[in-house]
Amino acid sequence: MNHVHSELPVAPGTTRMPEHRLVISERGSFAFATCSCGWYSPARRSRDLARREGADHLAGNGAEPD
Ligand SMILES: [Zn+2]
Repeated sequence: MNHVHSELPVAPGTTRMPEHRLVISERGSFAFATCSCGWYSPARRSRDLARREGADHLAGNGAEPD
């Protein structure tokens, strides 16, 4: 029996989950946006700027343009 490690089975109702989930994190006085896809923004002093760069990342990947 071959057990091939591949993608997890997709359960009904989960296929609409966005692949890009943005999280704003803070480290010290810096803030940066990280995405569930592995992307992350440079550290910024402004939390708002980090959030904007995150939004730009989402837009650039076709996920819910704001
Ligand atoms: Zn992403």
